[in-house]
Amino acid sequence: MSRLPKYAAGRPPAPVEGLTSYKLSSNENPLAPLPAVTEAIVHESAINRYPDAVATRLRDALGAFLDVPADDIVTGGGSLGALNQILAAFAGQREDGTEDEVVYAWRSFEAYPISVGLAGAKSVQVPVLPDGRHDLDAMLAAVTDRTRVILLCTPNNPTGPALRRDETERFIRAVRSDVLIVIDEAYQEFVRDPEAVDGIAMYRKYPNVAVLRTFSKAHGLANLRVGYSVSHPEVTQYLRIAAVPFAVSTIAESAAIASLESFADVVGRVQTLVDERDRVTAGLRELGWDVPDAQGNFVWLSLGEATPDFAQRAAAQALSVRAFGTEGVRVSIGEPEANTRFLDLCRVFTRVPQSS
Ligand SMILES: *Cc1c(COP(=O)(O)O)cnc(C)c1O
Repeated sequence: MSRLPKYAAGRPPAPVEGLTSYKLSSNENPLAPLPAVTEAIVHESAINRYPDAVATRLRDALGAFLDVPADDIVTGGGSLGALNQILAAFAGQREDGTEDEVVYAWRSFEAYPISVGLAGAKSVQVPVLPDGRHDLDAMLAAVTDRTRVILLCTPNNPTGPALRRDETERFIRAVRSDVLIVIDEAYQEFVRDPEAVDGIAMYRKYPNVAVLRTFSKAHGLANLRVGYSVSHPEVTQYLRIAAVPFAVSTIAESAAIASLESFADVVGRVQTLVDERDRVTAGLRELGWDVPDAQGNFVWLSLGEATPDFAQRAAAQALSVRAFGTEGVRVSIGEPEANTRFLDLCRVFTRVPQSS
């Protein structure tokens, strides 16, 4: 266990006299729940009963929403729960005591090394390109006969760019068909790159592709822990065995269904966040900051050694941001006032940023 990295959850901001504090460290949706969602859960009273273990109502709703068989959907406690099912089922230790390998880009989602390690498998991390994109050629070269799973994160958390359709499809075709390729689309609803890959389209074409999606980000239900995977029966049969029973509560299920039923409202709210994201990236570039393409609800500053200093300066402005060692800072798109304060900080922060 000691070799597992620790998951550092985004911290709330410390109060600063005279300033409203904003948490920009966990890529949460800053908007309050939709009234229809609150209405759907407020009367949920049968909490003495276990929920439906396989979330039938939600899977039916998602099946219709995505136009996929409901049986191809496996829910989990967040998409992280769905990812853990995949890793538990497909990657671990072999009978001879050696470890399966799981290939993914790095830096990427902080939970990956922990989930891979907990499954008993070995992480093979392939550095992202200087512009924050996956280096798919290097990832392909990193695949060995021990590779069981590949994780693709699009848009990549924390660097921001989305994978493109063509490069992703070339990659999938080049990988052995007995390797499971997981496309993590936690921020799918925020993507505006017209060339971005659609994971569901890849799942439809390739039986070794599984897609992860979540209600935590665009739908704003992070606290309720609902996510899911979409994959073919060859995969789902094992995921159902690996799933933590009752991971999705009836409250979470009802909230997710209500959110899907109000999807036009969800899209409208996501667009306000996308507009803010584009205002922030344009503002940063105007100030001379070299920021990668931002397709999620966050921006990445490749600050190198100045990373801790920047995080401290943000905290002094009552903004909590996510600092990664001496690599960079990820800043979630929040309320307009928070975003403006972040831009103001970047205006006066003197160190010339450089790409890592
Ligand atoms: C936030 C996030 C998730 C989703 O987490 P949940 O468990 O669904 O809350 C998954 N993948 C990435 C890359 C994320 O950033």
